Amino acid sequence: MLGQIPQAVINLDALRHNLACVRTAAPRSRVMAVIKANGYGHGLLRVATALRDADALAVARVGEGVQLRDAGSRMRIVVLEGCFDERELVEAVGRNLDLVFHQPDQLRLLQLVRVPHAPRCWLKVDSGMHRLGFDLDAAADAYAALAHAAPGERQPGLMTHLANADDLADPYTREQLASFGPLAKRLGAAVSISNSAGVLGWPEAHGDWVRPGLMLYGASPFAGGRAAGHGLRPVMTLRSRLIAVNRYRQGDRIGYGGTYVCPEAMPVGVVAVGYGDGYPRHARSGTPVLIAGRRAALVGRVSMDMISVDLRGLPGARVGDPVVLWGEGLPIEEIAEWADTIPYQLTCGITPRVAVVEAASGAVASWEGGG
Ligand SMILES: *Cc1c(COP(=O)(O)O)cnc(C)c1O
Repeated sequence: MLGQIPQAVINLDALRHNLACVRTAAPRSRVMAVIKANGYGHGLLRVATALRDADALAVARVGEGVQLRDAGSRMRIVVLEGCFDERELVEAVGRNLDLVFHQPDQLRLLQLVRVPHAPRCWLKVDSGMHRLGFDLDAAADAYAALAHAAPGERQPGLMTHLANADDLADPYTREQLASFGPLAKRLGAAVSISNSAGVLGWPEAHGDWVRPGLMLYGASPFAGGRAAGHGLRPVMTLRSRLIAVNRYRQGDRIGYGGTYVCPEAMPVGVVAVGYGDGYPRHARSGTPVLIAGRRAALVGRVSMDMISVDLRGLPGARVGDPVVLWGEGLPIEEIAEWADTIPYQLTCGITPRVAVVEAASGAVASWEGGG
């Protein structure tokens, strides 16, 4: 019996450790832990529960906030994209969600729809990302309109987003900060600027609230960076097993399209993981995997359910051996580089076929033993 494979093993101690790293990096800021997209694939409710010590949670959509409230979360929850129609506004206010306002239609909605009490609000300003937010020129008027439409003790917060904070050599971040700073000062609002790259790389951008996502899950936001270089620990380990070991002759072609040709007679293993599980289809020949703790390289194309691996360096490899695709012992950033993508997409992309288990549960211990 191989047990259910593949598995995404979630280490919640690592998640809490990474939150502590955020506090160390941004000691004067409050922390809005970003858990959108099913907690970057780690499980929305699971990570919300483990991150109880954060000062707030942030999600992208109203529906995600409602899911958290339905599950009993009483934390402050910020909806980063705000609401788009009357129904969402009423629901968000009823569930006590903080709302971000990034465009005039959202402001008009708040002015027109009768709600039982004013929500806590954030104004999103475009300081150069050019995705969401009011122009810097329009921001002061929009802020006044928002404060008027949502009267309360707490004035609205002010939010902006950095476009290229993961490139420490790009002066653009400083330009964004320089154009946003005076506005924030003038309005005297609580400000929130930094994603993970801002937290780790731009102390001058920390402000009153930081908004880390990726670093909480134990991955580096910087090109060429590694979590361990920031003291972060991987939260998700994607694992499976070797389900076949075959020997091929020199010149034999491996898998769809025969893109890998055996340079000599060699053993090739098959691992039960593929793009149907969220393993990236564009991972190239050479992408590392860990087989019973030792490195081997992917060969040929990734299939829906399987990948093939070069076992020349691992003559002792056997059917049933545990395989790590990323996580503990194999940096996810490395896999992302081989697949021309980013760690975010890998953890978010785990499909429902993968069994998600928590590291503390007995399942993992027995799995190690090969049961
Ligand atoms: C997703 C998101 C974040 C978190 O970004 P990371 O790079 O994962 O730290 C922060 N702010 C906004 C507005 C986001 O959409």
